[in-house]
Amino acid sequence: MNSRKILVTAALPYANGPIHIGHLVEYIQTDIWVRFQKLQGRRCIFICADDTHGTAIMIRARQEGRSEEEIIAESQLAHQCDFQAFDVEFDHYGSTNSAENKQLCDRFWFELRERGLIVEQDVSQLFDPQAGVFLADRFVRGTCPNCKAANQYGDNCDKCGATYTPADLIDPVSSLSGATPEIRSAKHLFVQLEPLREFLTHWTQTSGALQVEVANYLKGHFLGKELRDWDVSRPAPYFGFEIPDAPGNYWYVWFDAPIGYIASTWQWCKAKGEVLEDWWQSGDTEIHHFIGKDITYFHTLFWPGMLKSAGFSLPTQVHIHGFLTVGGEKMSKSKGTFIKAATYLKHLDPAFLRYYYASKLGPRLDDLDLNFDEFVDKVNADLVGKVVNLASRTAKFVQATGLSHKYPDDQGLFAAGAEAGDEIASAYQSGDYAKAMRIIMELADRANPFVEHATPWLLNKDPSKREQLQEVCTIALNLFRQLAVYLAPVLPRLAKQCGELLNDPIESWDQSKSPLLGSKVSAFSHMLQRVKKEDIEKMIEDSKPAEGSGEVPSAAVPSSANIAKDSGEALEKEPLAPMCTIDDFTKVDLRVARVIAADEVPEARKLLKLTVSMGGDATRTVFAGIKAAYKPEDLVGRLVIIVANLQPRQMKFGLSEGMVTAAGEGGAEVFLLSPDSGAKPGQRVH
Ligand SMILES: [Zn+2]
Repeated sequence: MNSRKILVTAALPYANGPIHIGHLVEYIQTDIWVRFQKLQGRRCIFICADDTHGTAIMIRARQEGRSEEEIIAESQLAHQCDFQAFDVEFDHYGSTNSAENKQLCDRFWFELRERGLIVEQDVSQLFDPQAGVFLADRFVRGTCPNCKAANQYGDNCDKCGATYTPADLIDPVSSLSGATPEIRSAKHLFVQLEPLREFLTHWTQTSGALQVEVANYLKGHFLGKELRDWDVSRPAPYFGFEIPDAPGNYWYVWFDAPIGYIASTWQWCKAKGEVLEDWWQSGDTEIHHFIGKDITYFHTLFWPGMLKSAGFSLPTQVHIHGFLTVGGEKMSKSKGTFIKAATYLKHLDPAFLRYYYASKLGPRLDDLDLNFDEFVDKVNADLVGKVVNLASRTAKFVQATGLSHKYPDDQGLFAAGAEAGDEIASAYQSGDYAKAMRIIMELADRANPFVEHATPWLLNKDPSKREQLQEVCTIALNLFRQLAVYLAPVLPRLAKQCGELLNDPIESWDQSKSPLLGSKVSAFSHMLQRVKKEDIEKMIEDSKPAEGSGEVPSAAVPSSANIAKDSGEALEKEPLAPMCTIDDFTKVDLRVARVIAADEVPEARKLLKLTVSMGGDATRTVFAGIKAAYKPEDLVGRLVIIVANLQPRQMKFGLSEGMVTAAGEGGAEVFLLSPDSGAKPGQRVH
């Protein structure tokens, strides 16, 4: 079983926009599956990349007066930050604009040519004579030929739903320049799919790689008749790879994007000393693609056709999911439900979304609805109320003694949990995370009454019941740990916290099978906070377009290129410290505090004595070397950021119980940090 080699991909996000909660359905779904495989001890790699080519990026680069490379680099960085924040952990994240991808495209192209599958055809397309580019459908607007509604897109009408070609629009206008487009003809290169129809029919219907409803859909809609040729080239100007034997023509973005899966794997192989053929041309490796249903055609017909023609392995499985709706409707900018990953992170814990999605995801293509009442309920009732509760109510009572050395009688609770492991594992494996979460919560439902009845908080008051207390807590913490192992693919941070609490890191599914004994127990620290309704409301408010802004076309968004460039002097003078982990950072507890008193220290040349409040009765005295930069009376009332868990330091003038954070070289060049308005004393900086 553990000799399996598994390569997993998620669809490549397009470089022209930020990651939002709709995208995250797929990345979280895939990440859970990968983490599950790794927890089972299987060799599994998770490969992804930014999809960078195409007209949209080229147009944006023109509008913003910068290079495509600059835009895609910026976008890739933003995407990777978002993924990391949501604990989506790739083994490699590349870019389709790479030398490896170019080389592989050449190879695929050569193989397709060799097999006589490439043909040339004339294509008439709208051309913007002013901008000098052929117009993709979305860059043309005009009056609907059917219902005469004005200002409709080039391919379909918002008002009546009619579909048409841009050439049918009445009074078409290029949205790039406002010019009237002309119809121009150009030669395009096509891949013929019809010669592959027999192979594709066989593969889609018998390989088991597709969900049954997908196989049926392909059979009913496409495979029963002649397959249309696929237009894979675009004339210059185009941002992409030029086709080597057709100068002036570029591969259409959809040609090189899936090849990007292989190119990104190749980059990983180079970094790890692995061989690409072992992963993409070996019968020992499973290949799993996770995609949304909107790109089914590409991944189940074009892509297998290309792989087959070029001699690469076919997907073992294509896992296709539905779309995200919010409150039963499409995500909407005006309703504030088009929520960007970065906006979500400002208000809510990513673990909440991971758990919520897991609890809703099944193996089929159904859409997934995000209902915020249910979201609050699931997080608070399940995660906080049933799971974390087991540890938060018991860990403190065994901090001194640790866990018992012999597992006490728990009336079969742990054994029943261990037995459920196979069913949970098979639910994860088949993509039925909803079922896995249901079984896990049933186990939690059985564990909680045990703690209720055993009342460790009462046992703790009776010195003669020390041993019983240790036994009760040993059981509760082991049941908690068993749940944390089962939830580890969904909630990696909780698993990590459990490992730290019980001094035994969670690294394997098998840790759910036997109780942990005799282990030290660390001080309990908060694992998950309850979700508050008002945080969700704030996030939705934050996601609505600013008053009166309407739908801002991307051209009108000010470009960051307009901001004057800062000098590099400060960074040069004080270079970056060595890389630290998020754990290193979280050791430092930064808090918002209000200065409630500021006094001169007569004996000290540089110091002010500050009294700061973290809300309630929590005050601290801090000596800060800011006298040359700030007058005491200007400081009283303002918010600062303090290091709140710094070891107190005895100074000549008194005890300093923390540190006020500031930038600058010192002396008069000191700049205190302060939060944006709305922050409250006592809030932690994350
Ligand atoms: Zn219409």
